[in-house]
Amino acid sequence: MHIVRSARRRKTVQLQIRQQQIICRAPQHITNADILEILAKKSDWITQQLQRPLAKPKQYIDGEVFYYLGQPYQLHLVHGTRTQVQRSTDQLIVATPQTTPDQVKTSLIHWYQQQAVAELSSRVAHYQGQISVSPTRILIKSYKTRWGVCHADGRISFNWRIILAPSAIVDYVVIHELCHLVHLNHSAQFWQLVQQHNPNCQMARRWLRQHGNTLEI
Ligand SMILES: [Zn+2]
Repeated sequence: MHIVRSARRRKTVQLQIRQQQIICRAPQHITNADILEILAKKSDWITQQLQRPLAKPKQYIDGEVFYYLGQPYQLHLVHGTRTQVQRSTDQLIVATPQTTPDQVKTSLIHWYQQQAVAELSSRVAHYQGQISVSPTRILIKSYKTRWGVCHADGRISFNWRIILAPSAIVDYVVIHELCHLVHLNHSAQFWQLVQQHNPNCQMARRWLRQHGNTLEI
C-alpha cells in the first residue's frame, strides 16, 4: 500500500485503487493505526475493487475497440503517406506510413489530445457563464491519477483521457473544476455548487470510481 500524506487542506482519508495498488491519501495528523482501522472497515470494498478486471492492454490492431465520448469505435488501419486519424460513425480510421503498434498508438494519442482540446474548451465555454466564472487558461495534460486540476491562479488542466468517458461524465468533470474557481476546496459549499449545476454528480463520481481505470488507450 502507498500512503500519501497531504500537507494542506485534506481533512479526510481517501482510498483509491490503481493498477491493483491501494493508495491512501491522509491528512498529516492521522496515525497509521487510524489508517489501519479505516482499511479494516473498508475491507469489503477493497476486496471488491481488487477483484475487478484490469483494463486490457491495447494491441493497436484492426478491429480493436476504442472509446470516444462513451461510444465504441473499431480501429481501422490503413497505409497513408502522412499520419491522419478520422472518426466515422463507428470507426477510428488511422492512416500511417507504417502501421506498427507504436506508430498507431502515437497517432491515436495525438488525435485524442486534439479532440480533448476542442471538446473540453467548448464545454468550458458552455458552463462558465452558467457558473459565473472564467478560467484564465485551459490546459490539456496527461495525468496518471486525476481528471482535472484547478490552479489557484485560475488555470484549469484536464486529463485528455476523460474524453473516452460518456458525455455526461465529461460534463461533470468540467463543472467540478469550474466550481473550484468559486471554492478552491472540497467543502460542503463546493459540493452544493456542483450539485446545483450538475444534479447527476453523484452518479458521475460513482461511474469514475468504477470505470476510471478503463479510460486508457
Ligand atoms: Zn476537486
